[in-house]
Order: sequence, then structure tokens, then C-alpha cells
Amino acid sequence: MTSVESPTLAPSGPSGSARKYPDVTHLIGGEPVAGAGRFQDVVDPSDGSVISRVPLGSAVEVEQAVAAARRAFPGWAAMPIKERVQVFYRYKALLERHLVELGALITEEHGKVRAEAEAEILKAIELTEFACSLPQLAGGEVLEVSRGVECRLERHPLGVVAAITPFNFPSMVPHWSLANAMALGNTFILKPSEQVPLSAGRIAELLRKAGLPDGVFNVVHGGREAAEAHCEHPGIEAVTFVGSTAVAKEVYRRGTAALKRVLALGGAKNHVIVMPDADPEMAASGVLAAMSGCTGQRCMAASVMVAVSATDHIVQRLAEQARAMVPGRDVGPVISPEARDRIERYITEAEREGATVLVDGRGAEVAGKEGGYYIGPTVLDHVRPEMRIAREEVFGPVLAIVRSRDLDEALAVENASPYGNAASVFTESGGTARRLMESAGAGMIGVNVGVPVPREPFSFGGWNDSKFGVGDITGRGSIEFWTKARKITTKWNREAGTNWMAK
Ligand code: NAD
Repeated sequence: MTSVESPTLAPSGPSGSARKYPDVTHLIGGEPVAGAGRFQDVVDPSDGSVISRVPLGSAVEVEQAVAAARRAFPGWAAMPIKERVQVFYRYKALLERHLVELGALITEEHGKVRAEAEAEILKAIELTEFACSLPQLAGGEVLEVSRGVECRLERHPLGVVAAITPFNFPSMVPHWSLANAMALGNTFILKPSEQVPLSAGRIAELLRKAGLPDGVFNVVHGGREAAEAHCEHPGIEAVTFVGSTAVAKEVYRRGTAALKRVLALGGAKNHVIVMPDADPEMAASGVLAAMSGCTGQRCMAASVMVAVSATDHIVQRLAEQARAMVPGRDVGPVISPEARDRIERYITEAEREGATVLVDGRGAEVAGKEGGYYIGPTVLDHVRPEMRIAREEVFGPVLAIVRSRDLDEALAVENASPYGNAASVFTESGGTARRLMESAGAGMIGVNVGVPVPREPFSFGGWNDSKFGVGDITGRGSIEFWTKARKITTKWNREAGTNWMAK
């Protein structure tokens, strides 16, 4: 991080407070706007230090941001899409140039280890690259529907749109929405998670440097109050939300009641079925990476492994590898002390109810980071499907292993979950893989892949309690969400008669 490159994140000067960064500001119409009401501390979860403060915005700042985005809309929307995406070509190059610095900032505000933080920026780059390809994908259609009569379909931006994002991906999840929405001609307001507000400021700075006109991208910080104001403001046409299921339902109801388009992605409980014929190394390391990556704080984390029949050798290998992982080096902290305590409570309750703790990450400590919120990879065997740890989203590096006799039983466990983000199978059998593809109750399926995130141009989105609203959030699916279609019928040949539909 250098102060020259990042004016809003310049470390506090001698007259500033002891916090590493000055107070976060909203960004409205290209200008930083200082918080006017309450603030919340921004904490580095690796050591518990307060590194900044974030303003908790309200309807007042949302109103200002909508007004700025409205002013910017006509000019931005009128620009041909091929011209608009030039900004994103330049922005992509800036993300690439600043990759290490942007990753370091994510590590500071979120805690994830450097490699995971940089992988998140690589994903933001891939999402931006997709936005650059939108001129090739978002063209209209035209067809001569009867002699001399032509129908055409054109896509138009909606106007001012917004995204409300969670703490677990401070950069990638905002990029699920922002690049496509703006490339398609909308002006945009981001309401980042109040727990990780710093990356949003850098996104704004780099977009501006790439030539994005003021007011096209705005940031309003805050928590529930600011999010609700976005859902209710009549000047916002569409909202994407990513977060927990309880809040996703709330946001979906509130936003649609205000007559706007809403796509709300919720929480998850992803199952990975391991068959006895699976390649042992591929299965053990694949499941471990899927349960422990990003400290289990991702909606695609594998949190239940259904071990079918004779799979002890795979369970053992997985446990050995989990024991070798070092908190602070291979796994970052979780976001808060409350999250750590909640996760530990799930483990303790499962143990009390008869689960076997094969690998215990409770009470993890990292030398020199005693104030950090660490919990090591934890593997519980012989979990019963009715236990809370097997049903509820834990959002930590915890794997609950449920034993099953056969694939039917394993699929029944998976199907019983109200969530539906992802499901995977590790097997060498095409027939078994096919069964999962046909029968799992999830929108994203992996075969020998523990984290089956569809890469661009494929769209991301789950089913059931993991997503509310029509369509998917990224890829081609987003084109429909961020635009409205105009249908035009034309006829220029007088000889074709007056009522062309009659014949
Ligand atoms: P969260 O639901 O607590 O918060 C998400 C966002 O909603 C934040 O910006 C927050 O400020 C805001 N918010 C909080 N309470 C609100 C309320 N009552 N009304 C309106 N807005 C409110 O989620 P989180 O803890 O930040 O993120 C973790 C959750 O996100 C997990 O459940 C995870 O599975 C989910 N997630 C899902 C996906 C997906 O693709 N389905 C992706 C990433 C994260």
C-alpha cells in the first residue's frame, strides 16, 4: 500500500489518530463525503487491531448517491457500449498492476492469507474481462418477420442500480455486479459490508483513474439502515444482494415490495459425496481445500462430506492433511471473535452429541498474533444428519463427515438441505457422476471438483434458499438482469398492405 497511489487510504499523519488509516468516506458523485452520524471500527482480524472507522450511512447519503447517479446516467447511457467498455479495459490493466497491493489490503481488512487475497483480485480481473466482452454478447436481435416487416430487440440500461455485498469477499463479490452493470449502461451504488469497507475505496479510485466519469460509480457505507434505504429508494431500479439467507429474504421482500428488480443470493450448506472408488489423493486434498479455503468463510465451502461405504482411507488421509495445516500460514483468521465463538460452539455441541473430533482447531493461536480470531481446520466424523452442525451454515473451517451406506442414502442427505448452492462428488464412475448431476438439489455441481464455481462466461447462482429472484448474478445471466428489452416493429413498404398480421 502506498499513500501516493491511494489518497483515501493514506496512513493517518502525525496529527491523525493511532489507527493505521483515516476514517473511511462515502464516495458520491466523484467526491469523498465524510460520515455524518455513527461510525464502526474496522478491525484487522489477524491481530484484533483497529485500523480505521467506517461511517454507518443512512437514507440521507443514499438520497445523495441516487441524485448523483441520476445526473450521471444520461451521458453514460448514451455512450455506445464499445466506448463504455474501454474504461473497463483500462481498469482491468490497473487491477493487474495493483494486484499485490490490492491483495494486501484484503488481507488487512478481512484476514484471508495472501494467496487467497490475490486469488480474489484475479477473479475480479476475470469478471472485468467478461464485462469487456459485453459488446460481443449484448447485441440486439433483428428478423424479417413477414415481407418487409422487421422486428428488432434492443437492450437498454435500467438507470440507477445498486449492490449490497457481504464481508467474505471484499472485492470479488462487488465485481460480480459492478462491471457488468456499468458496462451495460447503468450507474451504480455499492453498499459494501461494514466489516470490510476499505477495498471499495480502492475500487473507486482505480475506476476513476481508468476514466469512469464521476457519479457513474458511488459508494455508500453502512449496515442494515443503509441497505434498507437502498431497497426502499424509488430511484433505484434494481438491487443485487449477496449475504446470509435470513437477510437475503428480507432484502428480496423489501426490494420487490418497492417494485424493483432484486436478485438476492443467500447462505449455503454444500455437500460433497465421496465414493469408495474416488482417487484418494484427489478426494482428500479436494475436500480439504473446499472446507478450509478462505477459512471456510465462503458460500461455496464444502461443509458436509458424505462418505459412502468403504472410504476410511480417504477420511484418514484428509485428517492427516488437515492436521498439517498451520493457522496464520495456511488458514487466516475468521472475521470476528463472535464468529470464532459461534463456530467453536457448533463443534462442542456436535462432540457432546456423539461426533468424533478427528482434527480439533479450537483454541488455535498464532505466535505474535495473539489478538487474532483463529480457528484451525476441524474435522468431525460420524456426524448424524439431524445434528445442527450438519444442517446449519457454520461459515468456518469445519467439515462434518456423515457416513452413508450407498449413493441413494448420500443423495437423500444432500436433498434434505433447504439450501441449494453447490454439491460435488468424488468418483471414478461416470454413472455415479451422472446421478449427482441429475438428482442433487443444487444449482452448481462439481465432479472431482470441490468448489464448483462456474468461470466466466458461465453464470454463478444457486437454488432454493441460496438464491431469491430470477436468473444468475454473473456471466451471460446478468445481461437480462441489468437491462430492459425494447421491441421495435418496422415496415417501410406501402405495398405490403395495412394489416400485416392478417396474412
Ligand atoms: P450478512 O447477511 O450479515 O450481510 C450482508 C450484507 O447485508 C452486508 O452489507 C450488511 O451490511 C447487510 N445487512 C445486514 N443485515 C441487514 C438487514 N437486516 N437488512 C438489510 N441489509 C442487511 O452476511 P455476511 O455475514 O456479510 O456474509 C456471509 C454470508 O454471505 C454467508 O451466509 C454466506 O454464505 C453468504 N454469501 C453467499 C454467497 C452466494 O453466492 N450465495 C456469496 C458470498 C457470501
